[in-house]
Order: sequence, then C-alpha cells, then structure tokens
Amino acid sequence: MKTLTTDVVIIGAGPVGLFQVFELGLQGLTAIVIDSLAEVGGQCSELYPDKPIYDIPALPNAKASDVIDNLWQQAATFDPTFLLGERVDHIEKISESCFNVITHKNTTVVCRAVIIAAGNGAFSPVKLKVPLIDKFEDKQLFYRISNLEHFKDKDVVVLGGGDAALDWSLTLQKTAKSVLLIHRTTNFKASTASVNQMYALCDQLKMQFLCGQVSDFQQNDDKLIGLTITSKDGINRRVALDELVVCFGMSPKLGPIDNWHLDMHQHQIKVDTQSFQTSVAGIYAVGDINYYPGKRKLILSGFHEAALAAFSIAETVLEKERIPTLYTTTSTVVHKRMGVI
Ligand code: FAD
Repeated sequence: MKTLTTDVVIIGAGPVGLFQVFELGLQGLTAIVIDSLAEVGGQCSELYPDKPIYDIPALPNAKASDVIDNLWQQAATFDPTFLLGERVDHIEKISESCFNVITHKNTTVVCRAVIIAAGNGAFSPVKLKVPLIDKFEDKQLFYRISNLEHFKDKDVVVLGGGDAALDWSLTLQKTAKSVLLIHRTTNFKASTASVNQMYALCDQLKMQFLCGQVSDFQQNDDKLIGLTITSKDGINRRVALDELVVCFGMSPKLGPIDNWHLDMHQHQIKVDTQSFQTSVAGIYAVGDINYYPGKRKLILSGFHEAALAAFSIAETVLEKERIPTLYTTTSTVVHKRMGVI
C-alpha cells in the first residue's frame, strides 16, 4: 500500500485530464493524474490515434496522437505525477477540503479536491468469453504484455485482428519458440504493412496464422495446455500452447463512478457550469463525463471546463472571493509558476 499527497487528484488522463494539469498549474496547484490505461490520451490514444482532428483551436489538422503529445508536453510544465494502470475505485471525503482517493492497487492519494475527467469510464480490456478460462488470467492468459521475457522460448497464441494483435505477434515472434495468430476472419483492422509482414513470416514458416474462434480450452492439473478453435465451417481444431495473449481491444466502463453518490444524468455527472463542481463540494467533473444543459462531448468544451474548474478550486483552496484572470503572455506570477523566468 502506497500513500501520496497532492493538491488535486485528476481521475483520467485523456485530453481534458491532461489540459486540467496545466490549468491547475497556472493557479499554483499541484496534481496527480490517475488512469486505468497504461498510457495517457484516453479515447484519442485508444480509439483513433492516427486520425486527424480538425476542430482543435489553432490546430487546423492534427493527428490525435500529436494532440496528446502536445497536451502532455504542456502538462509537463508543472511536473505532474502520473499513476497509470491504476483504476480509481473509491473517493472518501474526510472533510470539506480533504479527500482520500483510492485505487484498485490500494494506492491512496490524499488531496484537497478531486476532478473527475473520466470520459465514458475506465478503459478495460475486452475479455475472451469462454467459460472458466479467466482463472488463467495473469498466469498464462494476458490482456497486456508488460514483460516480454516471460514469453521467451514458449509456444504463444495471440488472439485478435487489430494493430495490437499484429504488433505483438510480430514482436513475440522474435523471442518466443512459436507464435500462432488466431483471428475470426482474414479481414484485419491493422496496418497493411503489419498484415503483409505477418503473411510473409508465415510463408517463411516463422509464425502461423489460423482463421477461427476459441470455443473451449484444455488443462492439465491447473495449467492451460490447449485451445479448441472452431472455424467458420464448424470444424474444430486443437492447438497446444504455453501462453495466451488476447488483444480484443479496450472498452470503457463507468464502473466505480456509479457508486460515488454523485447526482447523475443518465450516465454523466451533473455539474454546475460556474465552477464545474458536482453535487458533492470539492469534487468536480470535466470533459465527456459531465452533464449540463447544452453539453457537447467535444475536446474543446472540456478545455473550457478545465479552466473554470481550476479557477473555482483555487478560490476554494486559497479562500479568495475571486481569483484575478492572469494572462500567460504578460503575468510574471504565471511566468514564475511556469518556470519561464
Ligand atoms: P477520455 O478521452 O474518454 O479519457 C478518459 C480517461 O479516464 C480514460 O483514459 C479512462 O481510462 C480514464 N478513467 C475513467 N474512469 C477511470 C477510473 N475510475 N480510474 C482511472 N481512470 C479512469 N472530439 C472532438 O472534439 N473532435 C473530434 O474530431 C473527435 N473525434 C472523435 C472520433 C472518435 C472515433 C471518437 C470515439 C471520439 C471523438 N471525439 C472528438 C470525442 C473526444 O475523443 C472526446 O470528447 C474526448 O476524448 C474526451 O476527453 P476526456 O478527457 O473527457 O475523456
């Protein structure tokens, strides 16, 4: 168990959570950002990294991944701490200006305010739906690879037809004893270069590809030793394995947010548009997760909301009636906070 302290915890490292760090920094407030994903960027990184976005102010045509790189750089001005791969499960209100934010890995962050920038919910892997196979999770069945060494000299099966499945197959093929990629069709949602490389490696007998879906598994004692693969024509084949990597993509789940006793509108958190505070004082919500009349789920709306939430938190924390608007071009106070003078 780990305990950290900061002024504000931001739940979600999507584009709005990242910009929130910068807006808090301008007010002299520190932030810790927590995201269930292993990388920053939320929907932009997870769902459409290579697509151009045309409606970010002053960026007429920018790839989603470039927008995230720029936001990350802007946030880095204020040296935030990122807790990635951790899902926030609980928020405990200790007093009007003290909260404990607790993750599924038992990290507790003590803070003065909480900003929920959770988009459509925490991204988590789409699971392989075969009864009882989940007992092998994190032992022989993996939804993300954090240690390549684990697969060295093993017979590995990779499931999926997107970029992640192709990229991991090509990477694992260099160190594993064998790699078998299995996808339900020959239509891949991955870059043509990766698909061509995969077929070329199959031609050279350096890896294999099989069309079908997992319908069952075999075990020996408590070890997963094989899968039954059913092809479109109903034929079953058995394949042996040591390790299974499932790359079916990520989907967002509102999950724990539903239990935080906040006033909701359908699956979004109601906020007051002056401060972006929720129904619980000290807890704010910005970006796709919030709701107010006229709400639009757009990145630029989230940027505006992040600025006003930061002003409101600064006013509460510093107990000031109204924080003056300081320009980043001319304010020496802001320049000192940014470290540019
Ligand atoms: P998100 O990007 O959803 O990020 C939220 C983050 O919070 C996620 O990483 C999630 O894992 C994390 N999280 C949630 N709950 C928890 C928890 N309990 N613990 C830890 N982490 C948690 N918008 C535009 O303005 N212009 C466009 O052109 C555009 N194109 C789009 C194209 C597509 C295909 C899609 C799907 C969306 C598009 N959008 C576009 C919408 C835009 O992506 C969203 O408005 C934006 O991502 C919202 O940002 P956010 O930071 O609020 O949330």
